[in-house]
Amino acid sequence: MNDEPRPRKTLSLKPGVVLTRPLGPEPLTPIKTSRPARLPKPPKPTPPPPQIFGWKCKPCGQGFDLPVDAPEDQDVRCPSCNARVGKVGDFSMDPPPNRLRARRVKAEL
Ligand SMILES: [Zn+2]
Repeated sequence: MNDEPRPRKTLSLKPGVVLTRPLGPEPLTPIKTSRPARLPKPPKPTPPPPQIFGWKCKPCGQGFDLPVDAPEDQDVRCPSCNARVGKVGDFSMDPPPNRLRARRVKAEL
């Protein structure tokens, strides 16, 4: 009987499989010079919606929005001419009081 221990087979990759690319310049691949198909036009970026002003300053005509979450007794000033146009509470009155130096402008959508 042959008691000679057989050499243990070490796990190895399949013979013939080369993991590393052989050194050398990469083979040049011919570049197709045919014209690419016409690319579809990228969609136009939608312009931002026009700013809607709820109020207009009477002295200068600048539109502005009321400050959000402002207390009713807070002064509202025109962002353009800095005129004090009224208090936040005045703007919620209907009709607006005469002391209000701003007029309501219709929001156009
Ligand atoms: Zn103003």
